[in-house]
Amino acid sequence: MPVSLSKIREVSMGHISSKEQDRILAFCVEVLQRLGMPSYELVLSDEPSDEGTDASIASVPGRYAATLRVCKRWDSLPKSEKVNTLVHEMLHLTHADLVQDAMLPLEFSPSVSSDLRQAVRGILDMGTERWVDRMSYVIAEGMTYPKKVKGKAGQG
Ligand SMILES: [Zn+2]
Repeated sequence: MPVSLSKIREVSMGHISSKEQDRILAFCVEVLQRLGMPSYELVLSDEPSDEGTDASIASVPGRYAATLRVCKRWDSLPKSEKVNTLVHEMLHLTHADLVQDAMLPLEFSPSVSSDLRQAVRGILDMGTERWVDRMSYVIAEGMTYPKKVKGKAGQG
């Protein structure tokens, strides 16, 4: 499957070299293709992810679009950790709409308390995190972090 199926846009990142940005995006394209989600629009943010995280992903509900952030110490992470982290974040995209859809009836029901909403949200988030953690090792099996990227990954 051609890499150009994923639309990828990048912005300048102070904490990550442009070659590393290319590697991150090329690897994410490979993962999205493995997951059968080749037409995702992924933006690599110039903002680092929160302290204590290796990366984070935020998706736009109902649209195949997401913003990926990686941590300030990204360059010092072992390649195997980069692989697992990026697979983990891409896997979150397979569940993003499910969590949003499950929360929708609760958000608009006046009989549901905010405590219950928070509890359900917490259960969904925890379950998603466990599933994504387990599955990331399965999906990452045999995948290697790219050394060099020819041209720009998935531009277009
Ligand atoms: Zn996660």
